[in-house]
Amino acid sequence: MAAESYDRTEGLSNLLDSSKIHAMDAAILAVGSELLGTDRLDTNSLLLTRTLGAFGVELQRKVVTGDDVEAIVQEVGRLSRVVDLLLITGGLGPTADDLTREGVARALERRLIADDEMLDDIRRKFERFGMSMPEVNRRQAELIEGASWLINSRGTAPGMQIDTDDCVLFLFPGVPTELERMIESSLIPWLEEHSEGLQTETGIVRVACLSESTVEERIQPAYEEFGRERISVLASPADIQVRVLVTGRAEERARELEAMTDRIAGLVGRAAYSRDADGTLESVVGELLSAAGKKVATAESCTGGLVAERLTRVPGSSEFFEGATVTYSNRLKRELLGVKADTLDRHGAVSREVVEQMAVGVVARLNSDLGVAISGVAGPSGGTAAKPVGTVHVAVAEAGSEDVDHQELHLPGDRRRVRRLASQWALEMLRGRLLR
Ligand code: AMP
Ligand code: MG
Repeated sequence: MAAESYDRTEGLSNLLDSSKIHAMDAAILAVGSELLGTDRLDTNSLLLTRTLGAFGVELQRKVVTGDDVEAIVQEVGRLSRVVDLLLITGGLGPTADDLTREGVARALERRLIADDEMLDDIRRKFERFGMSMPEVNRRQAELIEGASWLINSRGTAPGMQIDTDDCVLFLFPGVPTELERMIESSLIPWLEEHSEGLQTETGIVRVACLSESTVEERIQPAYEEFGRERISVLASPADIQVRVLVTGRAEERARELEAMTDRIAGLVGRAAYSRDADGTLESVVGELLSAAGKKVATAESCTGGLVAERLTRVPGSSEFFEGATVTYSNRLKRELLGVKADTLDRHGAVSREVVEQMAVGVVARLNSDLGVAISGVAGPSGGTAAKPVGTVHVAVAEAGSEDVDHQELHLPGDRRRVRRLASQWALEMLRGRLLR
């Protein structure tokens, strides 16, 4: 596409209609035989992809070639015809296997021209370290006809930018730290200039204790209103992130991001607990507790202190966390929390009655405002027909209230997962109590 097509001042009147925005598209070509093997991972393309994403540039292709001049010629020729922007990394070193310069020059049918000024520059870089420049480094001062140099302040190999009728090409060195610096000094300024202030941002709605399919079902209207391709659902056990992508200029972007996350949170309902990437369930519970001026204490059996651990991960948790008991044995449930022997005998440790007494007990004994208690069968052994592995009871009690919340859960998975899920439900019940 011609350079004019980057002018995207039109079509922004209605930002909710993303189809009106012409997104620039791009490809990445990583050059290096080591990248085709198992020793070295192509991490450079990830750095480049992240940068492109931030400017709403759509990545169309990602290609890796070895240090093979024919392969480079072929890929550069092909890719430069299909995308607006081609980012190439690697193969700009001084050695015989660094063939990117030659490959790109041949693909574009341009000459390589020795640049004496650049050669002096490179020579001086060596001299600054008390060395003389090896003859092989001469190659790094060969500029592709019509290209401009890109300064590499962290190494000897400069990069290049070439504007053709079809495509703008950037050639970057392969050393990740050098690339990183040059993304900042060359690529980002270019993208800022040519994306007309358009950038892409991610918004997030975090959801606790709903299944992925329930979330999917509830947010259907948002798919229709905003476009399916702009919304993605990332699920982990009992914790789901709905992500939205917004491309636009600063102000409109912020407005649309808010409109989209508002709508999605509204559709999800009360289970939507945060719109902050760092807003974990425990931190949200912490904020609610702090806002209410209340402290919580925990009484945990099968989770072994996991809820307490998660709550104390939050900086400043002393403001809302009173303390914890891990009462694994029946004896400690009785002695530390005041659970009645008779209740334990009649209902067993994994029961509504016991977990409610644990919650009430921990509020009283630790003198806190709220108490959360968990007792369950985490497995792999210990399950029975009546109480199979994954059976977990959770209760939340509050000082001065007769009203104790309780839930019986049947959680899937292995021991680790059951414990994690139980802690998630306990925090979610606590959140529910605080929102009442
Ligand atoms: P080059 O510029 O091809 O001489 O590469 C210099 C160094 O950077 C070598 O150690 C390469 O393994 C490393 N490198 C090259 N390309 C990449 C890439 N795409 N991702 C990560 N490291 C790379
Ligand atoms: Mg290489």
